[in-house]
Amino acid sequence: MASILSTAEQTAVRDRKGPALPGALDPAFLTCVHCGLCSSACPTYLELGSEADSPRGRIHLMRAVVEGRLEWTPEAVGHIDLCLECRACETACPSGVNYHHLLEQARVELEGKGLRPARTRRLLAWMRDRLFPYRSRLEWAFMPLRLLRAVERLVPQVARLLPAFLRDLAGFVPRLPPAFRWRRLPEENPAQGTERLRVGLLAGCVQSVVYGPVNEATVRVLQRNGCTVAVPRAQGCCGALHQHTGAREKAKAFARRNLDAFEAAGVDVVVANAAGCGSTLKEYGELLADDPAYAGRAAAFAAKVKDVSELLAELPLEAPEGRIQARVAYHDACHLAHGQGVREQPRRVLASIPGIELVDLPEGEVCCGSAGIYNLTEPAMSRRLQQRKVAHVAGSGARIVATGNPGCMMQLEQGARRAGLELQVRHPVELLDEAYRAGEKRTS
Ligand code: SF4
Ligand code: SF4
Repeated sequence: MASILSTAEQTAVRDRKGPALPGALDPAFLTCVHCGLCSSACPTYLELGSEADSPRGRIHLMRAVVEGRLEWTPEAVGHIDLCLECRACETACPSGVNYHHLLEQARVELEGKGLRPARTRRLLAWMRDRLFPYRSRLEWAFMPLRLLRAVERLVPQVARLLPAFLRDLAGFVPRLPPAFRWRRLPEENPAQGTERLRVGLLAGCVQSVVYGPVNEATVRVLQRNGCTVAVPRAQGCCGALHQHTGAREKAKAFARRNLDAFEAAGVDVVVANAAGCGSTLKEYGELLADDPAYAGRAAAFAAKVKDVSELLAELPLEAPEGRIQARVAYHDACHLAHGQGVREQPRRVLASIPGIELVDLPEGEVCCGSAGIYNLTEPAMSRRLQQRKVAHVAGSGARIVATGNPGCMMQLEQGARRAGLELQVRHPVELLDEAYRAGEKRTS
């Protein structure tokens, strides 16, 4: 169906930055021609089949509130918060509706006016504001789960006596390689051979605390490909969780901190190996557009951000010599595929590894139900989507699933365990690093 706007107007609306003018209808609403082509891409619509839980339904609802035809009832708030902000609808939309921009504005209102249910407000206040941005607190929070994992591995008969919910919770935590030792990454990691680029790595909150091996592998792979990797100590949380749940001012504070830290490190490129973080870093220009001290710097910073697979595909990367003989399913993380348009590059990285048979999953671009802390705020829908994704992985016959986001990795890890599926969940750079190391052993 054709848009009601001219091509020039559509482009202007699509590229529009910043909040709506007071009293004016955000032009992003006008690009929606209500065709419904986005519905079949929407995970909540696929599961529930209800218009109110489709992108088009949510746009109707938000517009009705903005135009004063509807109040924020608990039901209306529920439909908005059941959205995963996966942005699959943006990929499917032929009119280029900037859906996440509308959703985030609605959530700023829900947050500011305290319209969410008390349980959600408590969870957000605790998880988002007091836990996630602080590495040491996150480490303490994950300690008991890691301990549980270790008990399961070493004395499974004792672990079986523990309450089922505890064992289920521990399922989020990955099994680490036995020889892995936790450490804080050095601030400077020199390139092997001639330096081609100076790269800054966003270590990430969950990535640092839960997936230390992924960060270590990222640094080694980049060094091997001629990059000096700076990991500035002054960096912090990217602010994704805050931005997606309506705490925009807090997200801005994190953005300013990261800008200062990476500017001081003097890097050519800023790399993220967590899709959710990378997508947020790429939006710092928009986030800080109304801050005169940071607007220009934020736009320049955002233009330097790349997912690690994007950078490796551009370098181009040194071909690994070691083999990984396995069928590997690739799961598109929403904030990589829909948020950043990065689909081919991680597949190219994986396909460069000798022995890997790469398979795509049915419904590959449907969210796995992780979405930040959605699995805590909306556990029922999260579990349905987890089961749906794991069933596709099981059907693919793969024994490894690769994906570029820690939230998806944890969700798949737990889902496989719940389904009794023997599955390794790996980041593409981990597999590349493994292939490099296997190649070194062969030649030494
Ligand atoms: S968001 Fe896009 S695809 Fe969905 S109803 Fe509106 S115009 Fe159609
Ligand atoms: S962002 Fe995802 S869950 Fe939300 S409306 Fe769009 S497709 Fe549906």
